[in-house]
Amino acid sequence: MKRLRFIFILISLFWIASYPLIAQPYLSPGNEVEQGGYLQVFFHNGGGPLEAELLQEGRSQLSAQGGALRLGRGNTMGILLMGIPSTLPPGEYILNVREEGGEEWNLPVRVLGRDFIFEEIVLNRKMSDLRTSQEKRKAEESRILGQLLYEYHPEAIWETGKFMVPVPEPRITSRFGDRRTFIYSDDKTAGSIHLGIDYGAPAGTAVAACGAGRVVMSCERILTGHTVVIEHFPGVYSLYYHLETRFVEEGQLLEKGEQIGTIGMTGLATGAHLHWEIRISGIPVEPEIFLGTPLIDKARYFSKLILENFHERW
Ligand SMILES: [Zn+2]
Repeated sequence: MKRLRFIFILISLFWIASYPLIAQPYLSPGNEVEQGGYLQVFFHNGGGPLEAELLQEGRSQLSAQGGALRLGRGNTMGILLMGIPSTLPPGEYILNVREEGGEEWNLPVRVLGRDFIFEEIVLNRKMSDLRTSQEKRKAEESRILGQLLYEYHPEAIWETGKFMVPVPEPRITSRFGDRRTFIYSDDKTAGSIHLGIDYGAPAGTAVAACGAGRVVMSCERILTGHTVVIEHFPGVYSLYYHLETRFVEEGQLLEKGEQIGTIGMTGLATGAHLHWEIRISGIPVEPEIFLGTPLIDKARYFSKLILENFHERW
């Protein structure tokens, strides 16, 4: 028992004394990521902002921001999250990470392909018109939401753990990344990719916040109907579409599981369902990832920190 306590104190001392020893950023859980997944980059960071670009043959494909973030109990960690589009071609990439006015690193990344479902959706006249209309308001709504989802607020930390399914008795009717063909009432077609998961449920069913966060949008939009967007972490957002009613206002802080509205079929919807979407660095990612593993792999970060410090000392 005494020996264990000694080892524990020793580890703690090295950890505290040599905190800045993670000199090189590293990827968690590794350098492979699936289409629709996301990269977690950890590093020692003095507190300045960080930027990353995913490059292929020297050409930038994606970018993301990060920084030193306080994660409670006095712990600070350098972290950068980057969403990987479901459409990004599989292959070898380089992640270039830069500290503002400081060092930069190039980390190899391998993007793995995955299979997506093809589906056809027949739209009636009303839904066809909704989707094809050139209305100015629709373009303006799309611009506003697009801009909001790329915003990075370093102070925005409410959730680092697992998310929960936002509906009771979840029944998935459409999956993330489905390759869709819309068939309009005039038989014309258009391709599209499904950016979230659809849960079918009777109108009026309660919808919960998937994690703690701050409401950054609560409004009615042409295509997505009654819409709520919650910010959980810098650059991490969850979206809820087609609600019948909304119970939250912009700026409101929410606990995980708090009711935000009810399921409906407002906007472009062929039946009552919730469209649930997760964005990281502006990119829609597979929401189911977050039900099984925490958003931030803190345990891995701290174990790596301790291990590295031992390597440096022994
Ligand atoms: Zn959907």
